Amino acid sequence: MSQNPPNLRPDLAPKPVFDTPRREGQPTIGMVSLGCPKALVDSERILTRLRAEGYAISPDYKGADAVIVNTCGFLDSAKAESLEAIGEALRENGRVLVTGCLGAEPEYITGAHPKVMAVTGPHQYEAVLDAVHKAVPPSPDPFIDLLPATGVRLTPRHYSYVKISEGCNHACKFCIIPDMRGKLVSRPAHAVLREAEKLVEAGVRELLVISQDTSAYGVDRKHDLSPWKGGEVRAHITDLARELGRLSPDVWVRLHYVYPYPHVRQLVPLMAEGLILPYLDIPFQHAHPETLRRMARPAAAAKTLDEIAAWRRDCPDIVLRSTFIVGYPGETEEEFQTLLDWLDEAQLDRVGCFQYENVAGARSNALPDHVPDGLKQERWDRFMQKAQAISEAKLAAKVGQTLQVIVDEIDEEGATCRTKADAPEIDGNLFIDEGFEGLAPGDMVTVTVEEAGEYDLWGRISA
Ligand code: SF4
Repeated sequence: MSQNPPNLRPDLAPKPVFDTPRREGQPTIGMVSLGCPKALVDSERILTRLRAEGYAISPDYKGADAVIVNTCGFLDSAKAESLEAIGEALRENGRVLVTGCLGAEPEYITGAHPKVMAVTGPHQYEAVLDAVHKAVPPSPDPFIDLLPATGVRLTPRHYSYVKISEGCNHACKFCIIPDMRGKLVSRPAHAVLREAEKLVEAGVRELLVISQDTSAYGVDRKHDLSPWKGGEVRAHITDLARELGRLSPDVWVRLHYVYPYPHVRQLVPLMAEGLILPYLDIPFQHAHPETLRRMARPAAAAKTLDEIAAWRRDCPDIVLRSTFIVGYPGETEEEFQTLLDWLDEAQLDRVGCFQYENVAGARSNALPDHVPDGLKQERWDRFMQKAQAISEAKLAAKVGQTLQVIVDEIDEEGATCRTKADAPEIDGNLFIDEGFEGLAPGDMVTVTVEEAGEYDLWGRISA
């Protein structure tokens, strides 16, 4: 089983993990969680609050008294998928509450689905709960409805997303996230660390740090100090990453959505030391300075190839994942060729690519010289061909190496695992076909790589 080519918008969230059966007469809510890992964290928070109030959570439409659909509105195609999911929930259950990014445009939803019971926007947790109370009144039993210590998580138990901030201070022209989610608001460092510590105590083996702009963490708080373990910790990504890494030597800490600001260099020694995973998910989006300027990207002027060389010098094992947009308005053949040449030189390990799409409300819609669809497709094909060749060569070089992997799933055919170079949902896997019987999800084992494909590896457990 392979989840590649990398999917940038893992729209299908993993199935919820429930640990307590529903009791007789308990009010029950279903949840359909669309969109990115950040939306998934929102869904988890809503479900955690509902569990605390005595609601049961249903894994299917039929067992639910109402269904919450947490929507994504990032691209027009995501909006269409959200509308489709709302339609399905209405057909299957009939009592539907909508929240999330698309909730910022209530008329868009009620225009298509007038029977929706309530619409709330992103992060309006209180409003979602009010809507649930109205649709399905709570009926808690204080002796039975105890909240699990770590809240409700939609991810498998051995890994968990940790959201460190919300919103974004940038204004990339193709993106409406700042309009939907507002300016950067970072959580206090000790709140993030306490949550992470609880997760580790509950058996989580991998923490995935997410936000819209992880490198900017704490800027809005002026990097204030908060008390932590008898001392103080600064709301700054370097300090936060260090403390997360110190929680346990047996837990992986992976950073997502890191922008190449100069201070990112300070994270690399933490990777070289083994405190956090040598993995940077860094959305470059393009390489030509003019395209980046038209996108109004943060760090557009950064000399990214020099930065990459410096990171690799300081941490030779570092794995770089990035995303790109091809066919951005005004992208000339020369600009695109610069991107291909850059990719040749940068030799990124993992790459995802979007063809540019207009999004209602985005400023890039008004730019001149939109690229025709056929040409976008052609550029995407050329880009992916190169990216795949790089990925294949990088994976082939791993054959014979001994690597630590984390086990995600076991079935009768084998164990699906990931190396430190693979984030869940978006990167590749390492499969073990023999001698996997004693393994369980969350185990970490050492394997020797025997075979490599375009995106995945196969290996056997080392003695
Ligand atoms: S940095 Fe740009 S692309 Fe990322 S959330 Fe902010 S505005 Fe959107």
